[in-house]
Amino acid sequence: MRLKLTTLVSLLALMLSTSCKKDEYVNLKATIAGESSLIGTVEGSPFIYNLSLSKELSEDLPIKLVIDTTETVKYINKDDYNPIFEYSSDSGKTWRKGTASSVTFPKNTKDLKIRLNTLDDKKLEVHEEFKLNFTVDAGDKFSISGSIDPVECIVEDNENNISVTYGIAIYALDNNNFNLIALNREKISDNDQKSIIDNGLKQEVKDDILEVTSFGDIGIKYLEVMFDFSADLQGFVRNVSKSGEDQWYMGLELSRAYYTVDPVTKMKIRQKYNENGFFGYVLTHEFGHIMTLNQAREMDILTGPDDCSRLYIREGCAREASALDGFNTAFYDESVTLNEPSHVTAYARTNIVEDIAESFAYYNSQEDTPISSTDSSGALRKMNFVANLISLNKFRTPIREAINVKLPSSYSDIRAHFNRTKDGKRISCIDHGKIAQAVKDR
Ligand SMILES: [Zn+2]
Repeated sequence: MRLKLTTLVSLLALMLSTSCKKDEYVNLKATIAGESSLIGTVEGSPFIYNLSLSKELSEDLPIKLVIDTTETVKYINKDDYNPIFEYSSDSGKTWRKGTASSVTFPKNTKDLKIRLNTLDDKKLEVHEEFKLNFTVDAGDKFSISGSIDPVECIVEDNENNISVTYGIAIYALDNNNFNLIALNREKISDNDQKSIIDNGLKQEVKDDILEVTSFGDIGIKYLEVMFDFSADLQGFVRNVSKSGEDQWYMGLELSRAYYTVDPVTKMKIRQKYNENGFFGYVLTHEFGHIMTLNQAREMDILTGPDDCSRLYIREGCAREASALDGFNTAFYDESVTLNEPSHVTAYARTNIVEDIAESFAYYNSQEDTPISSTDSSGALRKMNFVANLISLNKFRTPIREAINVKLPSSYSDIRAHFNRTKDGKRISCIDHGKIAQAVKDR
């Protein structure tokens, strides 16, 4: 078939005009919208967010993106995601790389997926959050109405977890290392707590705990960290061994090492680490428990109550010449009456186990301990009991060299109210009735 030149020219013209028409399709006006205001994913999986335009644009539209963590406590750490945003305009079949701060809404498309990849690690972390902020970079060229609200993004940590009873985290101690083995994600609610989880315990805290608990050669196997200034519980210990050994689990409230109460305003204020000595006091108290309840020298869990001829408590039968058995004979026998104040602190009244731990901590917190007689207060006699017992008094010097140990006067009746009435009037040091009344009045 012969093709006439005129036919060819007109065909070419038609083709040109068709493609010209397409090239000349100009639209720079549309409404943009985002899909939702909250998205979540699990560590290792991506966040995917959908944007849409009411009409296709004839030019690429730049979208700026910002990961905003300024207002969240459980902020995402930089090493938990790949900072390069990706985007797809074919429903996720193919992805193109944007930058750490932008993607492109390609021309002639109406739907865009934006992807941010999170990274799977083997670290225990909180469920982390951030806010994704969008800005349409329309410049003078486009006329874009609508907006994309910031999106709350939550990435769930996928590491297994053991439950934490009181605090925010549990560490297992191994060769002086503190290995995080559990965390209480629901309890993380401020930057101090988040920082402990991410960065570990501060060296000063680790040093003091390791040093003090190492005296006496028993040590601790686990540390539960609490960090809640408003909480009552300051510390605890328990032996988690099931077979009559010593495997000590210690809980410590760390916020009191870094914060205290302003004596005038009564507000919580920051202090230098353990400046007022209260954290040192609590650590000494808990150490006192281990020194009076350990299986190695003090208690025998294998002897049952029927076979125990001495003090029997939950931790077992007090061994012969143990601190608790001596304390029990000296102060808990029915024939013994104690002058007031009978205990070094109100908390010491809880039970004999707390009484000896408080007497131990209180003795270590005092510059000097006057020698007692049977006329002395029970509190002073108990401090003297500790002072005269080699298995306990030998820790005084090393502890006081290792850590500042003080009980702020607001925690104890004794120094402040020992020989004064509530109104500050002096009473005779041996008028125990009046002293008892003054303590009660307080
Ligand atoms: Zn205690």
